[in-house]
Amino acid sequence: MDFLRPTNWPDALAAKAEHPDAVPIAGGTDVMVELNFDQRRPPVLLDLTAVDELAEWDADDGRVRLGAGVPYSRVITELGDRLPGLAMASRTVGSPQIRNRGTVGGNLGSASPAGDAHPALLAATDTEVEAASVHGNRRVPIGDFFTGVKRHALQPDELIAAVWITPPSGPQQFSKIGTRNAMVIAVCAFGLALHPDRRTVGTGIGSAAPTPIRAGAAERFLADALDEAGLWDSRGTLPDSLTHGFGQRVQDAAAPIDDVRGSAAYRRHALDVMARRTLGWAWADYRKAA
Ligand SMILES: Cc1cc2nc3c(=O)[nH]c(=O)nc-3n(C[C@H](O)[C@H](O)[C@H](O)COP(=O)(O)OP(=O)(O)OC[C@H]3O[C@@H](n4cnc5c(N)ncnc54)[C@H](O)[C@@H]3O)c2cc1C
Repeated sequence: MDFLRPTNWPDALAAKAEHPDAVPIAGGTDVMVELNFDQRRPPVLLDLTAVDELAEWDADDGRVRLGAGVPYSRVITELGDRLPGLAMASRTVGSPQIRNRGTVGGNLGSASPAGDAHPALLAATDTEVEAASVHGNRRVPIGDFFTGVKRHALQPDELIAAVWITPPSGPQQFSKIGTRNAMVIAVCAFGLALHPDRRTVGTGIGSAAPTPIRAGAAERFLADALDEAGLWDSRGTLPDSLTHGFGQRVQDAAAPIDDVRGSAAYRRHALDVMARRTLGWAWADYRKAA
C-alpha cells in the first residue's frame, strides 16, 4: 500500500487527481478500524493530517467555514457558542481520544446514517459541503450530499475542503439513544434547531433511514403552528397538541430497519420521544432568551 502525505492543499488535490482510488485519512478513527479488520485494503492512503488549511475554521459573512480536519474536541471548545447543536452532538462522539482525532470531515466522508454530526448539520438547514478538486471547488447542499448507505456525492477526484454552516438564530438541541452513555453508535439520534429570524424549524434524523434525513413535514407543521398561534412573538407555553403533532410527524419521516442495535418500532417510538423532548428543551431556552 502506498502512503502519500502532502503538506499543503494543492498537493493533496493533485495527489487525489493522480490517484482517484486513494483513500483519504484524517483522524483515522473510521479508516483504521476498516484496515485493522481487513474490510478495506486500498492501493493508496492519502494522509491529510499535514495539511494545515484543513484544520482551520473561520467565520465569514455570518457563516462558519469549518475545515474538514477540525477535530470534535475543537468544535466543542471553540465553536460551542456559535454552533451549540453541533457541539452537543460532538460531545457524544466516542471518547476523549476519539474526539481529539475524529473530524466532522471524516464523519461526512464515511457518510454513515449513524454519524452524529449529521443531524446537527441537517437541522442548520442551509449547510453546504465544500468539495474540491484540481478543477475547482463546488458546494453541495447537505440534503444532496448523502446519496445512499455510506455513500456520498463526492467525485473520485474530490476531497472535502470544509463545511459551511449558518449558525441557527435560535436554540439548538441534540439527543441520541445508545446502549450506554459513551463509546456507542447511535440506535437513533435527533437534532433540532429553531430559526426564529426566518420563522422556520430545522431537524435531522440519524440512524433511522438509509441516510441521515430531515423531517420536512414535521418542520413545516411546527413552524406553521407556531406562526398561527403567534408563539414566535409571545414565546408562550407550547400546547400539547403541537408537541405531540411534531413528535408524530418526526417518527413518520423515519424509515428505520430492525438490526442488532434496535428494532424499527423502537426507533420510531424513540424518535417521537426525542422530538418532543428536544422541542421542550429548545422552547424553554427560547422563552428564557426573551
Ligand atoms: C471507538 C470509536 C467510537 C466512535 N464513536 C462514534 C460516535 O459516537 N459517533 C460517530 O458519529 N462516530 C463515531 N465513531 C466513528 C468516527 O470516529 C467518526 O465517523 C469520525 O467523525 C471520523 O472522522 P476521522 O477524521 O477519524 O475520519 P477518517 O477515519 O480519517 O475518515 C473517515 C472517512 O472519511 C474520508 N475522509 C476523511 N477526510 C476526508 C476529506 N477531507 N475528504 C474526503 N474524504 C475524507 C475517509 O477516506 C474515510 O472514508 C467512532 C469510532 C471509534 C473507533
